[in-house]
Amino acid sequence: MSTRHLPKKSLGQHFLHDRSYIERIVQAVSPRPGDRLVEIGPGQGAITLPLLRRHGSLTVIEFDRDLIAPLLAMADGVGELDVIHRDVLQVDFTALAAGTPLRLVGNLPYNISSPILFHALDHAASITDMVFMLQKEVVDRMSAAPGSKVYGRLSVMLQAWCQVQPLFVVPPGAFRPPPKVDSAVVRLLPRDPASVGIDDRARFADVVRAAFGQRRKTLRNALNGVCDAIQFEAAGVSPDARAEQIDVAAFVRLANAGGR
Ligand code: SAM
Repeated sequence: MSTRHLPKKSLGQHFLHDRSYIERIVQAVSPRPGDRLVEIGPGQGAITLPLLRRHGSLTVIEFDRDLIAPLLAMADGVGELDVIHRDVLQVDFTALAAGTPLRLVGNLPYNISSPILFHALDHAASITDMVFMLQKEVVDRMSAAPGSKVYGRLSVMLQAWCQVQPLFVVPPGAFRPPPKVDSAVVRLLPRDPASVGIDDRARFADVVRAAFGQRRKTLRNALNGVCDAIQFEAAGVSPDARAEQIDVAAFVRLANAGGR
């Protein structure tokens, strides 16, 4: 890049520079011929360029106007780079896929990583897989099992729709400027929508939100007004349990057991 770009904190700009981690991310993606790759937040192209060299074509979604021209210049003569200059939360992945499911990759802006994950879940049927770098603490929450201190809404929502596979940890020194915390790369594999078994997405999201909104309380209290005794009975879930003790399948049964 010819002119020096000052990283913007408000856009979560921590640029990856360690070649070994970049290579591990590219290996985790291992693009195959015909794959439709989409990178979220290409920044200065740390992952973009090696992916483009390897795959020949790539779509990137970048919000920072200052990075668009340098990205296009970088791709010149390397491959076909389609740059979408937009807030990723405004991008309709289903429309973008247009029938060919997407493989998403990205070192995500950490300040909006959860909204990006939930946005991707809304389009899970149009996504083959996702390889994302996030704060390690977020990856720990995404992959946590019942009984763990960090098992919560993010764990249940993601695991209901996807297999969550933590891959490796990346230290702050791999980025410029370094973030304050460790990062981790995770692979998300959306499940076949038919096998997820959730009758009503909005109802499921409401039950999970309410249950973990008051995680110290019993489900009877936390879900007061959301699930009644008959629904607990039908779902085979004890109302004396707490949210952190019940697994994803139990949340699905509770949400499917009936409306408000
Ligand atoms: N991929 C680059 C790398 O690994 O060095 C940059 C990663 S940096 C952590 C996050 C990138 O996401 C930045 O380029 C930032 O400008 C971009 N970004 C931040 N918010 C965004 C948004 N709402 N939509 C699209 N891109 C965004």
